[in-house]
Amino acid sequence: MSAILIDGKARAARLRAEVALGVAEIVSVRGRAPGLAVVLVGEDPASSVYVRNKGVATREAGMVSVEHKLPADVGGDALLALVATLNADDAVDGILVQLPLPRHIDADKVIAALDPAKDVDGFHPVNAGRLMIGQPALVPCTPKGCLMLIEEALGDLSGREALVIGRSSIVGKPMAALLTAKSATVTVAHSRTRDLAGHVARAEIVVAAVGIPAMVQGEWLRPGACVIDVGINRVVGADGKGRLVGDVDFASALPRAGWITPVPGGVGPMTIACLLANTLQAARARA
Ligand code: NAP
Repeated sequence: MSAILIDGKARAARLRAEVALGVAEIVSVRGRAPGLAVVLVGEDPASSVYVRNKGVATREAGMVSVEHKLPADVGGDALLALVATLNADDAVDGILVQLPLPRHIDADKVIAALDPAKDVDGFHPVNAGRLMIGQPALVPCTPKGCLMLIEEALGDLSGREALVIGRSSIVGKPMAALLTAKSATVTVAHSRTRDLAGHVARAEIVVAAVGIPAMVQGEWLRPGACVIDVGINRVVGADGKGRLVGDVDFASALPRAGWITPVPGGVGPMTIACLLANTLQAARARA
């Protein structure tokens, strides 16, 4: 038996097409396209690539993308002043401050300064709180995308045993809240968890968001489990070439899982598509 590969690229393409339709509709009603402002501080190569890709995807969906690039030594107050300007700018429906920020800037303070209605990353405490108590919110893009993939594979999640490995505010915690809202029975594992393999063995749904290459072994999995691999880890292969691997050992998981996301091509494409969906959601709410 071999797991069904969950095609994140195809699902993301469908979501992007839906967003583009929604954008056309809002343009016809409101007379202007949703606008996303992306703020990049410094020149971290990975962050620069992410910001460029987000800009391309935003424009492809028919939205307006504005990039604000600030030098790495910009002061926290100058960044907060830019956030205040974007909060007040009616043409801006969504604001994304690319993380990580340089160490001299308090990222929590910057996130808290965002207008929650424009917080398309879903990191503002108001959105995190709304998600926890089941109120409408802008939800972090990666777990939002993971949930779509899980529901596409399994349908109704009510009563399902789910394990989320990782408890970050960006992935693990919101993922657990989303699965709980779908009435799954959720366990959250982290670096202090004892007997991780035992927890994995019970789970019908495993979401791995750790950042350790191939940590989750295929033999641990409950046969037929739906495995969502969020990890993006760069490793050097025996041939000396760099490649990306997830947090799940793909080769040993493939014969045991029922469904599995590949890395790359699984969760990654969903993250950007969900950013577009969140920007449309923010624009609709403000319209
Ligand atoms: P993070 O903030 O570093 O959190 C990692 C989590 O893993 C922490 O909660 C940590 O536990 C837990 N952990 C560490 N070692 C563990 C172990 N041995 N057993 C069980 N849990 C362990 O990372 P993140 O931002 O959530 O990202 C996780 C991974 O997803 C990274 O590889 C990242 O690159 C990737 N990612 C991918 C996307 C995408 O679009 N595909 C988006 C975001 C992130 P403690 O809390 O106890 O320290």
